[in-house]
Amino acid sequence: MHRYLDYNATSPVVKEALQAVVQTSESCLGNPSSLHWAGRAARKALDDARDSVAKHLHVESGSVVFTSGGTEANNMAIHGWLQTQSPGKIVVSAIEHPSILQPLAIWAEREGWTVIQVRPLKSGAVDVDAFCEHIDVDTRLACLMMANNETGVIQPVREIVEHCRNLDVATLVDAVQALGKLPINLAELNADFVSLSAHKIGGMKGVGALVMKRGSKLAPLLQGGGQERKRRSGTENVPGAAAFAAALEVLDFSNCQAVRDGFEQELLATLPDAVVYGAKAPRVANTSMFSMPGLDGETLLMQLDLAGFAVASGSACSSGKRDASHVLLAMGVPEPQARSSIRVSFGPEHTAADAQALVSALVSIRNRLKMMAGAV
Ligand code: PLP
Repeated sequence: MHRYLDYNATSPVVKEALQAVVQTSESCLGNPSSLHWAGRAARKALDDARDSVAKHLHVESGSVVFTSGGTEANNMAIHGWLQTQSPGKIVVSAIEHPSILQPLAIWAEREGWTVIQVRPLKSGAVDVDAFCEHIDVDTRLACLMMANNETGVIQPVREIVEHCRNLDVATLVDAVQALGKLPINLAELNADFVSLSAHKIGGMKGVGALVMKRGSKLAPLLQGGGQERKRRSGTENVPGAAAFAAALEVLDFSNCQAVRDGFEQELLATLPDAVVYGAKAPRVANTSMFSMPGLDGETLLMQLDLAGFAVASGSACSSGKRDASHVLLAMGVPEPQARSSIRVSFGPEHTAADAQALVSALVSIRNRLKMMAGAV
């Protein structure tokens, strides 16, 4: 039996989103920029999708710029905003997604800007005071994610955005892993830029959005036809946007809490040397990251794959060498332990039986690997 437990990587497309793709592709054959009836139909479908995404997030439609996903939204905000600024400092948490950290590294290396990475507490949450103490008149941008993609730990974005706003410092909030998992009111949050991705909530891959506060300056990353009010050129992905709007209405991760908590209780009861990360901080309901000390995360992942479980390992592969999770390292987890980490991210269809089956598989894999290690 196959069990897909990697929703934070991507989620299965929900039926309503698929229907929106088919329906929009069939009924809106035109280019939204075309002036004829077919163009108008496509434009209407795009406007409707934008209105519905905006309504869901409590913002004006004009602030939603559709992109090819969270990575583009983050790059667009960083490169687009910093180009309009005089050189200065950027404050960012050390646990951001690479689509934040890598563009910022370019501004540090090529442009000589100062990028300050603030490490989280051991709990996985960023400390508000530790972050805010770096914010000053030279700060051009502060970046903090709403929920971490590896540990699921919810970050204090409301407090940090408020502090930055009082000092007139622009903020970028990566809400990719919070969407669908936490109530989001962007009017209340009032960040300058918020990035979103559709495929984490049952929409299509390759679709996302950057929500911009009214009046925010942005040099466009993509130049050309001037679509999306000159903020993102390129013919719009109308079916993808419609599917994003449809998915937002339906996907609900709230029942994951009981499944995830049950999984962790069972895991720790059966394998007491297992370590669960971020469990002392508030987390999104579906995510569990843990290590089974002494076992290599990648080996575990491959064994789980053979047993039919799709999960993620905390280590990332770069140039043929495996790096331990930068998130766990920033939390102070020792490197060998960080290398052994596994991330499980449940979806709404999962039940206690799936969690139980995963624990049983982990126990038998661990016993087998220990036996093999002993036999050598
Ligand atoms: N930000 C976070 C926190 C993510 O988890 C991801 C994807 O894993 C992204 C950004 C990138 O989103 P996308 O896959 O839509 O480019």
